[in-house]
Order: sequence, then structure tokens, then C-alpha cells
Amino acid sequence: MKIIMLGAPGAGKGTRASLMAEHYGIPHISTGDIFRANLKAGTDLGLEAKKYMDTGALVPDDLTVKILLDRVSQEDCQDGYVLDGFPRTINQAEVLEAELKKLNDKIDFAIDVDVSDDVIEARMSGRRVCVKCSATYHIEYAPTKVEGVCDKCDGETILRADDAPETVRQRLKVYHEQTQPLIDFYKERGILRMVSGSGSITDALAAVITILEQG
Ligand code: AMP
Repeated sequence: MKIIMLGAPGAGKGTRASLMAEHYGIPHISTGDIFRANLKAGTDLGLEAKKYMDTGALVPDDLTVKILLDRVSQEDCQDGYVLDGFPRTINQAEVLEAELKKLNDKIDFAIDVDVSDDVIEARMSGRRVCVKCSATYHIEYAPTKVEGVCDKCDGETILRADDAPETVRQRLKVYHEQTQPLIDFYKERGILRMVSGSGSITDALAAVITILEQG
């Protein structure tokens, strides 16, 4: 099962991707997480990506496509994966499609998580991320048991620099201009499925699984 999660930043793709990956026993691959891990490790890739991430811009396609293709060629991706935050441009989607085609393979579903911009802005200002294990929380909707401390690993939970309000508005603008066209791209291929990004997380997993099992 190869699945792409589409949707604006803050729509809830990451949470759903992680639940689905766990449910199907396949890796959850987030290009944003790969960039952040590289930044933390101080690699050239991380430092280069930071220049774009901090302003809400997209990291250039050549860099992003390379790290993604390296990742999906690894052993643990043989039975499938859930992509979260990739592709984000038509060019990225075309390259992925072409690379999979060479292997006689394809994406099974692209799931668009639909939420309005207003709700996203409100959500992201309350989002907190663990600096150690990247688990995400929300100060109102999904708080940690102890404020500022990750439930899973005791790491510190923080507001990501790119979740600051001005950066969120810029990321939404970039989303509408560059990523939203992917909805039509996958609709044309007959693999687009829509889910609402509101509602509880428990309902969210059930909703996605029902859609996938309907085919
Ligand atoms: P995310 O955690 O998915 O919201 O990604 C955080 C940031 O990483 C984005 O705002 C971009 O700067 C960068 N990024 C992540 N995935 C991609 C991608 N597929 N293409 C370009 N930039 C990306």
C-alpha cells in the first residue's frame, strides 16, 4: 500500500499518516521530519533546508526529490509507505510517478485532508512538537500530560519556528499556489480520496481506513 497524504500545513496529515502507518505496519515518511533531523544533526542538507523552512518557503525540488527517492528505496519500504508532506509540487509528483513507473509500481491512493485556513491558523499556534522524538501535541486539543514534556519520551515540547503566525500565513499561501494543484493531478488519475480534517483523531483513523478499504 503506497499512500500520499495531501492537505495544507496543519490540516492533520501527519497525525493521520502516523496512525495509518502503524495500522498497516509500513513506514511513515515525512520530508519535513527528514529535514529537521538533518538540521539537528548539523548536516549540509539540514543547513541548506533551514534557509527555506524558516521563511515558510519550499525547499528546492532537486534536493527534496533526492532525499525522498533515497528513503523510499530502502528495504523497509518494500511493502509500502505513507508519504506525509511529499509531493508538494506538480514537478515532485511527476518525478515520483516516473520513478515508480520504472519499477512497474504506482501510488495507490492520495488522501486530501480538508480544513479551512482559519481553522489551520488557530490550530498551528497551539501545536507543540517534541524536540527529541517529533511527536506532536496541541495545547488545547491534544495536550501532553505534563505541560511542556513529551508523553512518549520525556523530551521538551516546543512551538516550531515555522508554526509562528506570520510563517503559517506564508506557508498557507505557498500551499495554495504550489501544492493545491496536486488535488486535480491525483483526481485525474482516479486515486484521490477526500477526508475531513475536523473531528476527533479516533474517528479520523476509522474514516481513512473505511475509504481505503472501499477501494
Ligand atoms: P512539514 O513538516 O511537512 O510542514 O515541512 C516543514 C517544511 O519543510 C516546509 O514548510 C518546507 O519548507 C519543507 N518541506 C517539507 N517537505 C517538502 C517538500 N516535499 N518540498 C519542499 N519543501 C518541503
